Parts: sequence; structure tokens; C-alpha cells
Amino acid sequence: MASPDTPLVPADDVEVALERAVAARRHAHLFAERAAGIKQSAVRDVFDISMRPGLVSLAGGNPFLQSLPLEKLGALAYQLITEQGLVALQYGAGQGTPELRRQICEVMAEEGITDADPANVIVTVGSQSAQDIACKVFCNPGDVVLCEDPTYVGALNTFEAYQVRAEPVATDEDGLVPEALERRIAELRAAGANVKFLYTIPSFNNPSGITMAAGRRQRIVEICRTADVLVLEDNPYGLLRFDGRPMRPLRAGNPDDVIYLGSFSKILAPGLRLGWALVPAHLQRRFYLASESVTLCPPTLNQMLVSGYLAGHDWRGQIATYRGLYAERCAAMLAALDEFMPAGISWTRPDGGFFVWVSLPGHVDTYPLLHRAIDAGVVFIPGAAFSPSDRPSSKLRLAFSAVSADSIREGVRRLAPVLQAAI
Ligand code: PMP
Repeated sequence: MASPDTPLVPADDVEVALERAVAARRHAHLFAERAAGIKQSAVRDVFDISMRPGLVSLAGGNPFLQSLPLEKLGALAYQLITEQGLVALQYGAGQGTPELRRQICEVMAEEGITDADPANVIVTVGSQSAQDIACKVFCNPGDVVLCEDPTYVGALNTFEAYQVRAEPVATDEDGLVPEALERRIAELRAAGANVKFLYTIPSFNNPSGITMAAGRRQRIVEICRTADVLVLEDNPYGLLRFDGRPMRPLRAGNPDDVIYLGSFSKILAPGLRLGWALVPAHLQRRFYLASESVTLCPPTLNQMLVSGYLAGHDWRGQIATYRGLYAERCAAMLAALDEFMPAGISWTRPDGGFFVWVSLPGHVDTYPLLHRAIDAGVVFIPGAAFSPSDRPSSKLRLAFSAVSADSIREGVRRLAPVLQAAI
């Protein structure tokens, strides 16, 4: 049976792949132990397949960039290079430019973090690298990180690369269950585990689309505070709530217990590779030095470009455009699921973000279904990719962010008979 470790796509050039495998074996004894945990994510595997013409990809959570003011960004990039090139193309401050760090505090204020000090903001190469830095700073091999199940595949891969044990905590339709968190920490402690932090995606979780209820958030922070466990709050989708104000982050009002991760990937563009960590003041120096040791400094030109964009463009309006677009696509996906899916299949109804999480009856493993879905002309990500345990999963992730409403409907129409045949 196929498993999440089986490559989904055979290498195009078998000979090159063989040569590489032989060469890799020659140097295998040189690998660090942690290198065994470094894997290609299933999402990236499927990414290659999704490019095939004729397929509807409900796999990749790519933002839809067509609505960006590309001419303005282009003019700004041109101006930065021609007029300020000697700064824009030079090394910069390891922590990020002061101007961007100040502006990032304005972005966070939109969500209710009103006490952020730019001195505690560290600009990173996407939120992905901030997760890596957090592991580097806090985790020894064998340490435990708590997380939702399912959770972001990129974080799971980072945990594995640092030989960190990701321990799932029970969730329901309101996100992490506080009592389960409290119990799990106690059990792990009793078993002698070093529990370092709770990694959570409280708003519009990737992949489940579930949001932690407002009433649970403070309680979760307090449980962690009492147990001396940090919270790593990963919130790249927080501003993409379809209706109403954004949810108040766990970090709001809890400056000493929460490391907050933000990103420009979903509210502007992921190719800029810019995110940030807002770090408690007493941890700032460690975090910053670890970041600097990997990247020296985040890309100066990109930071100046984002600063110029935030200063000169209606970025709140751009976020509103994105929210409207994603709300429409999410509605199209939910309507198509209602129309085509057979009884016995259920799915989440997200209030924001990019993803819907589909549940099949427990006996079904969605991994082998992917191949059948590809034959039917549609791609999804099997649930096992997002699970901290290596068990097969009866769930799958559908992304609505990058595809038109018509294509979403067509993709779900193609998927329905594949799932029907499996249940
Ligand atoms: N966290 C979550 C929950 C994500 O979904 C993603 C991207 N899909 C990331 C982090 C990585 O974001 P970035 O582009 O900022 O590295």
C-alpha cells in the first residue's frame, strides 16, 4: 500500500535519479542523524503534479496574486534599485529594517496586538524560518512540542528535522480543547518529557480550517503559563477572516508567554519570503542571534519593497479584496460539496483562510485515493501529510484559494465519484 513516504511522482529521468541515489549512498555515513528526518513535504510532491494541464488543483494553498497592484510594485522595485540601490542591494540589519519592524507593529494592531514594540520584532524569511529558529533556540533532540492534529505539514517537517516529538492535543470544532491540553501536559511531564512549547494555528488552521473559539484562547495561554510551556502562535491567515473583525490573537495581552509568528505571504505575496516573529522581550536576543546565524539579514530589497507598499498603498483595502475573493471561493467550494458529495462524507465550514477539511468514514485511507483522483482530473492533499502520528488518515485537504469558483465546482464534481467508490 502507498504510504506518505512513497514518492507520488516518479523522477522524470530515472538514470539521473539512480546516479544520485548511488552518490548519496556513498556519502550516507556522513549524514547527521537529524538529516534522516528531513523530508520533502507531501504538499510539495503534489505541487509538481498539480501543474499538469487539464487537472483541477485543489491541493496547493497558494494565494491568488492576480489582484495585486503589480504595476505599482514594479515601479517601486525599479525606483528602489535605481534611486536607493546601494542600500537596497546591501546587507542590512540582522533583525530587519527599523521601518519595516515599525510597520509590522501597525499590521499586528489590526488584529488587536496593540503593545508590540518594534525592538521585539524579528523579520524572518517567512514564518517557516521562524519556526525553524524556534526549534533551534528551544529544542533538544527528544524534546516535546504540543500541537493540533491535524497541523501544518511544514511545521511537522521542521520538528522532525530537529528530532523533536510532536504530540497531538485533542481538538473539536472550536479548536484545541483546554482540558485535554492540561491533561496532556501533566501526562507527558509524569512520563519525564521535556515539553517546550505549544505550536498552534488558532485561526483558520492549515489544513482543517478550524478556528479556536475566542472563549478558549486566554484559558489556553494560562494553562501553558502555569505549566511553564511557551506558546508559538502561527497566524498567517489571521487577517483573512471573511466577515467581521479578525479574531484576537493569543498574543494580545500576553506579551511574556507567546511568540507570535506573522507573514506577508498571505496578505501580500509569498515570493517575497518575508515573515516575522514578535518575541517576548526576555527571549528577543536569543531568537535574534539564532536568526542572524542562519540568514545574516532578511532580504533588504524585499523589506524596502514591502515598506514602500505599506506606506504608499491601501494595504488594508488589498486585504479586504483578498478576504472578499476567498470568501467567494470558499462559498463556491461549500456549495459544490453540498451538491456533489455522497452521504457519509462531512467537511468543515471555515470562517477564513484557504482550506476545507473533508472527513470520510474512518476505515478509508485517503492516500491511495489520490492516484484515482488524479486519473479523474483533480488533485487534493491526503490527510496523513498533516498528522503528527504516522497513521493512515480518512481525511483530506481541499484548498479554495488559488482556483476560480467554476474550477472549484468542476474539481469537486470530479472528486465526488472517487470518494463515493471508496466509502
Ligand atoms: N504556517 C502556516 C500555518 C502556513 O500555512 C504556512 C504556508 N502555507 C506557513 C506557516 C509558511 O508561511 P511563510 O510563507 O511565511 O513561510
